[in-house]
This record gives sequence, C-alpha cells and structure tokens, in this order.
Amino acid sequence: MKIAVIGTGYVGLVTGTCFSELGNHVTCVDIDEEKIKNLKKRKIPIYEPGLDVLFERNVNHGRLTFTTKLDKGISGAKVIFLALPTPPGEDGSADLQYVLKVAEDLGPLLEDYAVIVDKSTVPVGTAEKVRAKIAANANVEFDVVSNPEFLREGVAVEDFMKPDRVVVGTSSIKATSIMDALYAPLVRQGNPIIFMDEGSAELTKYAANSFLATKISFMNEIANLCEKLGANVDDVRKGIGTDSRIGRRFLFAGIGYGGSCFPKDVQALSKSSIDADYDFKILNSVMEVNQKQKLKLFYKLQDYLGNLEDKTIAIWGLAFKPYTDDIREAPSLYNIDELLKSGANVQAYDPEATEKIKEIYGDKIKLCDDEYEALQDADALLIITEWPVFRQPDFDLMCKKLKQKVIFDGRNLYPTDQMKELGFEYISIGRKEIHA
Ligand code: NAD
Repeated sequence: MKIAVIGTGYVGLVTGTCFSELGNHVTCVDIDEEKIKNLKKRKIPIYEPGLDVLFERNVNHGRLTFTTKLDKGISGAKVIFLALPTPPGEDGSADLQYVLKVAEDLGPLLEDYAVIVDKSTVPVGTAEKVRAKIAANANVEFDVVSNPEFLREGVAVEDFMKPDRVVVGTSSIKATSIMDALYAPLVRQGNPIIFMDEGSAELTKYAANSFLATKISFMNEIANLCEKLGANVDDVRKGIGTDSRIGRRFLFAGIGYGGSCFPKDVQALSKSSIDADYDFKILNSVMEVNQKQKLKLFYKLQDYLGNLEDKTIAIWGLAFKPYTDDIREAPSLYNIDELLKSGANVQAYDPEATEKIKEIYGDKIKLCDDEYEALQDADALLIITEWPVFRQPDFDLMCKKLKQKVIFDGRNLYPTDQMKELGFEYISIGRKEIHA
C-alpha cells in the first residue's frame, strides 16, 4: 500500500518506518526543512531503540522516503496519517491548529479516494472538524478516521509492531476494510483491532493516558503518606500489585510523570470536561499531586542543605524517562530551574538527552560525559531518571567523587539497607530516610 505520514516527529517517524518495514511504500512529510534534510542524509533526529536498523533497511530498499512537499508526499497515497503536534493551548485544551491547517491544505491536493487517519491525540469532535476542513476544498471522495497512537517512547518500535490493541474510529465500511488490511500484519497473534465511532476512539486515548497518570499520582500520594506513617512504599506496591485486579505495572512512586503526553493529555481531558459542563474531580487532583511531586526532591534537598547558594549539585538523568532523549515536561527541568534560582551549580549527566538540555540551558549548567564526572566535588546527588546504568554504579568511586556522601533518589533505585551499610545519607521517596 502507498502511505503518507504528515508530521515526522516521534510518532510520525516510528509509524512511517514500521509501516515501510511491513512492505508498504511510505513518504514522510514535515515542514521542518532541516529535519527532512537530515533524514535524507540518514540522520535520525530522535533516539529510539531499534529504529535505526529498520530505518536504514527501508531507506535502502526505497520504501521509506522524505519530503517537505505535501502534494508530492500524498501523491498516490491510499492512506494519509496525520501525526502532528497537539500541544496545550493557553486554556489547557489541545491546540488543533497544526491538524486543521494540514486538513485545509489537503483538500485541493487529493487526487483520488484516500483515508485520512488522525494519529495525533485530539479531543472528541476533531474527526468531524478535519472532515469539514478537507470537504471545503476537495473534489474527490475521502474518509476521516480516528486511530489514536498508544506507543511509548523508549519502546516505540516494539509497541508499534506488537500493539496490545489497535483502536480505529470510523463509520465508513470502505475505511474499515482498508484499516483492517493495513493493520492485519500487526495483530496476527490475536490482539484486537477495536472498531468504534470516531468520538469514542478520540476519547479512548485520553482515557488511557489519564488513567495511567491517575495510577502514578495515586502511588505518589501513598508514598507521601508512607513517609508520614513510617511505612515503605515499595512493600505496599508489591502488596497491592500482586492483586490481579490491580496489576503490577505503573505502581512505582517517584517524582511525578512528565513527557509530551501525560501532562498535556490530562489537562486537555480536564478542559474537555469543563466544556461539556462536567466536573471531572479526580483529574484536577491528579494534576495537582503531580505538580507538587515534581519538586519533591528539590524541597527535600533544600531542607537538608539549607541555603543552596554556591552548592554544587549533581544530577543523574535528564530525559523524562529512560531510553529516550525527550525532555518535554521532564521533572529534571523543574528541578534545574529551582536549583539555578537558588544559586546552586548544577553538574548533570544523561546517556541520551544532554544535547536537548543544552539547547535550553546553554552553559548555565555543566553537562558531563559520564555519571561519575557529574559527581566531582558535589554536595549532593539527585537521581531524576531511572536509566539502567544508574542501578548498579561503582559506589566506591561515587564516595571518592562526591564531596558529601548524600543521595536524593527520586526513583528508589537502591535498597535502603545497602545504602546504610555503604554509609550514605540516602533520602528516597516513600521510604525511611537513611542517615549515616
Ligand atoms: P513531535 O513534535 O515529535 O512531531 C510533530 C512533527 O510535526 C514535527 O516534526 C513538526 O515539524 C511537524 N509538523 C508541524 N506542522 C506540520 C505541517 N503543517 N506539515 C508537516 N509537518 C508538520 O510530536 P509527536 O510526539 O510525534 O506527537 C504527535 C502527536 O501524537 C501528538 O498529538 C501527540 O500527543 C501524539 N502522541 C505522541 C506520543 C509520543 O510518545 N510522543 C505517543 C502517542 C501519541
């Protein structure tokens, strides 16, 4: 099948590459000329495990191409994916300007019947708006389908190739059969393609992300209570996670969720609820808890060290989660901002995200080549992202590098008993503080 993907970011590039791996001919379109120039030179603009191999293979076979020209990109395409940004607008609602602009541009360019597939996360009613924008200028038949994307950065290729489910919102029989055929290779093991109406598909994505964010904020509240009551959140997590009605995943306490999806999607669902005259109480608490939790480590550090002026603080982990270079809404940003405001010097290391952090902070913080360099003469270490490389560090070397053996661990990476034995001051989330 010939496919076009409009918007070649995290979702668009993974979608395009994976569909080309299945034998389709895919053209990825983007307005970012630099990005397309680099992609043509085989430079992938994001870090996503496993993407490079698929990318290389399909570019070599001519199944995956790139352009900045929308007309060229969609020429002959039976399916046109929209993988465009839907950032939060000023009032928290999803800003649809990118999606609707492309819809408007598409109308006169359609040469033959095509299915326009909305992969961006958009509020209920967007498929209808996209349809109206295209219809205003189109001379051919077309369908608009909602097909929200559930991939997770860091495991995006695997998620795309082996989805738990594919959700497709459409009322068109023709579009149903095209989408069914397109996704058939990805659901051979029996995972379902769930067909529904467009609005329900649009809401499914917000409901999924908001539910997961709720789990995180709930566990963070339990962690905060553990600290007050002297209980251990890791034990509580195991105790409840083994209940099959609850499940083990998404129960880790920490310093809040970040990334390009959860914060904006919870906010957008809350705004949709207000617009529908519905008071979605839980969502407001989920956001409030998360906002506070992001700075939990900073406040603990401030309590411990007092005045942070001229103190040197090491940071391990800058990406919003491991295996990505994405720093959108990352807890690291909030903590760095507060540290700089307090006059502290920041020395940070992340296996993949340093370039992106440099674009924001320039030389206001020191970006290090490895985790131990970041510790040099530091008054304390903050662990922000749970990259595997931080899980079994050389503790002896850490002791030599740090000025003070103080660790604030926002991801509960180490057993408290071990840290006691090693003689660290160790303050984590929802667990007993260890003081040497
Ligand atoms: P992104 O910012 O990484 O990529 C969007 C791309 O669209 C950019 O490269 C931008 O240059 C391009 N673009 C903007 N206007 C354009 C235009 N007129 N024509 C062509 N290209 C244009 O965004 P993303 O993270 O890939 O997210 C895209 C959508 O998918 C959002 O709605 C997001 O909520 C949703 N989503 C994201 C993820 C994720 O993990 N990133 C997961 C699921 C769903």
